[in-house]
Amino acid sequence: MVFNLSQPTSSNKQTLMKYLSLPQPETKVQCMYIWIDGTGEALRAKTKTVNFIPKHPDELPIWNYDGSSTYQAEGSNSDIYLHPVAIYRDPFRGGNNKLVLCETYKYNHKPTESNKRKACVEAMERAKDQHPWFGIEQEYTILDSDNHPYGWPKNGFPGPQGPYYCGVGSNKVYGRDVVEAHYRSCLYAGIMIAGSNAEVMPAQWEYQVGPCEGVTIGDDLWMSRFILQRVAEDFNVIVSFDPKPIPGDWNGAGAHTNFSTKAMREEDGLTEIEKAIELLALNHTRHIMAYDPNEGKDNARRLTGQHETSSIHDFSAGVANRGASIRIPRQVAEERMGYLEDRRPSSNCDPYAVAEVMVRTICLGL
Ligand code: ADP
Ligand code: MN
Ligand code: MN
Ligand code: MN
Ligand code: MN
Repeated sequence: MVFNLSQPTSSNKQTLMKYLSLPQPETKVQCMYIWIDGTGEALRAKTKTVNFIPKHPDELPIWNYDGSSTYQAEGSNSDIYLHPVAIYRDPFRGGNNKLVLCETYKYNHKPTESNKRKACVEAMERAKDQHPWFGIEQEYTILDSDNHPYGWPKNGFPGPQGPYYCGVGSNKVYGRDVVEAHYRSCLYAGIMIAGSNAEVMPAQWEYQVGPCEGVTIGDDLWMSRFILQRVAEDFNVIVSFDPKPIPGDWNGAGAHTNFSTKAMREEDGLTEIEKAIELLALNHTRHIMAYDPNEGKDNARRLTGQHETSSIHDFSAGVANRGASIRIPRQVAEERMGYLEDRRPSSNCDPYAVAEVMVRTICLGL
């Protein structure tokens, strides 16, 4: 017997609406505190009522949780502190309610191992005069509640890749309702979502966040991932950020990171982009270590040199080359200014770690 853990009892959304449409006292605001757990990949959340409408994260109280239940602490010394760092409108509860992204700190007020944001903020502060911008293309796969790719035949595979990328029609794309609900929810929340498209593997999708300056790319991307998983809950499907969810002749999932400094965006910025690529070439291994939560092990399954990837062992760069580590978009080469695309980060990467190492290598020479 197979138990469906995500939905042990059937839930009735219409009945739920009866309760959610009850008037909410104006001075009672539900704040959902959200944080990254000890895996460095999964998010956790719990809710607190506050008696005012928060406008800035500093107005919200520091809170805590049981770190022994999130792979972050021993049971005998389990309290982890939650420091609110970014506020978003809550698309699920609506009204004045908020989603609150938090950093995590240990009992001794040191950041937890999975808190990559603190070091990212410090690097961004040092590089702020160069105005680093990031745009991340988040790829993911929708799975049915039994972990099988959504819409795939239960006893086999769909036809080979080809018709699905940016496709239309119920035989080409699977799960568009989730994509549309997520896009609007991100816009409502205040996330810099830039677009979305169906991907090469059926049931695989992408959305882009950016361009965002500095640490905001990490905040917005993590919150967009929370919203995606929460939307998927409502549709009783699962989101996988695994970089190679289906082995074999199926595309993996990445988080291409587009990057520019002010100098790259200005006239003859291409010279700056080429300098950056030289620095990236010298630091390939360090970047691979930071581009997935398991120091390259996850990305090793994806960066094979096939399926529009470069080999994890080699560094390469090229104009319009989707088989290179770094791609200079055609238009950027023609206009001689713009940005570069680092195609190596995996779909389950921590954007704080990715953005930090890019700024260290390209902007700070560290
Ligand atoms: P691709 O052609 O690789 O599929 P996308 O259109 O999916 O590219 O994504 C491009 C991303 O680049 C977007 O997230 C966008 O916000 C970002 N971007 C655009 N201009 C810049 C820039 N100057 N610096 C950094 N990121 C940028
Ligand atoms: Mn309790
Ligand atoms: Mn894209
Ligand atoms: Mn893509
Ligand atoms: Mn891309």
